[in-house]
Amino acid sequence: MKKFEYMEKHGYEQLVFFHDKTTGLKGITCIHNTTLGPALGGTRLWKYDNEDDATLDVLRLARGMTYKAAAAGLNLGGGKTVLIGDATQVKNEAYFRALGRYVQTLNGRYITAEDVNTSTKDMDFVNMETDHVVGLEGKSGNPSPVTALGAFHGIRASLKEIYGSDLIEGRTFAVQGAGQTGDYLIGYLLDANAKKVYFTEINDKHIEKIKNKYPSVEFVEPDDIFGLDVDVFAPCALGGGMNDQTIPKLKAKIVAGTANNVLEDEEKHGMMLKDLNILYAPDFVINAGGLINVYHEIQGYNRDKAYRDVERIYDRLIDIYKIAKEDNVHTQEAAKTFAKKRIEIITQMRSNYVKR
Ligand code: NAD
Repeated sequence: MKKFEYMEKHGYEQLVFFHDKTTGLKGITCIHNTTLGPALGGTRLWKYDNEDDATLDVLRLARGMTYKAAAAGLNLGGGKTVLIGDATQVKNEAYFRALGRYVQTLNGRYITAEDVNTSTKDMDFVNMETDHVVGLEGKSGNPSPVTALGAFHGIRASLKEIYGSDLIEGRTFAVQGAGQTGDYLIGYLLDANAKKVYFTEINDKHIEKIKNKYPSVEFVEPDDIFGLDVDVFAPCALGGGMNDQTIPKLKAKIVAGTANNVLEDEEKHGMMLKDLNILYAPDFVINAGGLINVYHEIQGYNRDKAYRDVERIYDRLIDIYKIAKEDNVHTQEAAKTFAKKRIEIITQMRSNYVKR
């Protein structure tokens, strides 16, 4: 892999490889852009097939975090760490404390958190060696309810855009995936008097959980969720839910949920949805609630303040939909323009010297 060529092309600042011989810790931290503030992004532990796969993953994920933080209005840059290893074998106190020591060497340019295969408990070990870690137990807590709340406000903004009213009451929803975020989202929709909520799942335990918790919600088979005659399709499962096979089945006027990487091919499927006049709420904007929540830990956590900030996802989506119309582009592209504009404007605004 031509690392410098890739870094130059996409504007990366730093790529750090580390290895701790005592614990076997082997990882890569990537800092994409710190114009707005320290780079924040979780630590992912994965059994990568080779170093290039791990490198490409950390580069791609760190860049995604830059856009996510910028679009969320946070004073944060984008970064990420990947650890190469088998999560069932390598995890222990010393392993994560060793990680903490490497995070500390970056002197606050990078802040870590939990991600795939790492937990708040692991981050407590990281915290024994560095203060540059968030998502700790007893602070901002589980991000899933907050991510779902952000998606709820994003759905309201999308309804406003399509129907002129953001009322959930009287509207119908199809939720794909009822894990952590899907479960909370269904709850918020019902509390706001949704007319009808359907859901699908592939995990029997989760199907039972939802049926018991929300008796009015109707289960449908995974393949049937796309073609339901509803107002909103809410992807809350894994990525790639919108693709060549599923988009033509949609009857919903809005696609808005918590999932990451919803568009299998950003450009192609973003355009497909646009051409069908289906409003797509860009994933990294609508699902930023968890990031916004955890950001507040850096400033001293205050739940009310964090939740008020999460509610602003509504206004950001309205702004992004406006850009999409003005520029005649799909909404995912408009969201990137929105994020890049913020980075550019803040850079220019800071160009004069001010003594602090
Ligand atoms: P989760 O694993 O708790 O829930 C996902 C659910 O989707 C699972 O119950 C799984 O069985 C189900 N599922 C998977 N494939 C399916 C399919 N084809 N049809 C129906 N159901 C299917 O995960 P989560 O934390 O709720 O996250 C969901 C999505 O939101 C992910 O894409 C995640 O990256 C994204 N996200 C989550 C957060 C958060 O705070 N948890 C934050 C930002 C983004």
